[in-house]
Amino acid sequence: MTGRLLGSVALWVCLPAGLSAAPLRDLAHAKRLVDGVIARSMPELSGRVSVRAFSHRADHFRAQPRWWSLLPFVKTRYVVCVNLRATAEVSGCRALSVKGAEGVIAHELVHLRDMASGWRGMGRVIGALFSRKKEIVNEHRTDLQAVALGYGKGLAVFRHWISRRLAPKALDIKRQTYYFPTEIAALERLLKQQPALLVELDRSPPISLAEVEALVRRLSR
Ligand SMILES: [Zn+2]
Repeated sequence: MTGRLLGSVALWVCLPAGLSAAPLRDLAHAKRLVDGVIARSMPELSGRVSVRAFSHRADHFRAQPRWWSLLPFVKTRYVVCVNLRATAEVSGCRALSVKGAEGVIAHELVHLRDMASGWRGMGRVIGALFSRKKEIVNEHRTDLQAVALGYGKGLAVFRHWISRRLAPKALDIKRQTYYFPTEIAALERLLKQQPALLVELDRSPPISLAEVEALVRRLSR
């Protein structure tokens, strides 16, 4: 089953240049993508998220509160940071596509939705700052929520794209931290068949390909 899923994902991410492969162009473009995901999927963040550029050696996107808005009696505002230099075309590797950018933006906005949801969500975010184990669980959970919202294909495109730009050691760390296309495709299929499964998986997300495959086997019996 996993092999078939891997084949279908590989076919999808290798589509020829066209609309789905159009690149992320600039900050205004990223802002339109952020606004679109919020309007379609997370309206509770409407009017609370700005977008700015940042530069970093390893990170491509980030999401965080605007620190001044953490003052008492101020409604918290957030920012999605986009590393435009890292998402641009380099020799031998295409720029990040709109589809991939939308997938990872959905992931970042799920983080912000958690932060905006109250102490429980904020506790997950803070816990992940101090514990690698909690970070891994929280990032998988965040991916899972983005998949459940319908951004799995975009997220798979982003992870496939990034896997071609990272050194082996950095890629290993990313693979421990996030889902990659095979796992995303399996989870998309499971959630489509059994949407109620999201509640169980949100509490305890599978955090490796082996765990995803074990879940698929358990639910296929
Ligand atoms: Zn994340």
